[in-house]
Amino acid sequence: METKKQQSVKDKDTMVYQCPMKCEGTKTYNHEGSCPVCNMILKPVDSNRT
Ligand SMILES: [Zn+2]
Repeated sequence: METKKQQSVKDKDTMVYQCPMKCEGTKTYNHEGSCPVCNMILKPVDSNRT
């Protein structure tokens, strides 16, 4: 008996990163790093929410 898969576990492959200052608006990166505009560390954001 299979139950529906729950998506409560955060999958790192689906994580996206975004400048905390949103220099580039809603632009996101799929890797960690720093913002090319303000050089701040990109923050992980959960874009997989429905
Ligand atoms: Zn920035």
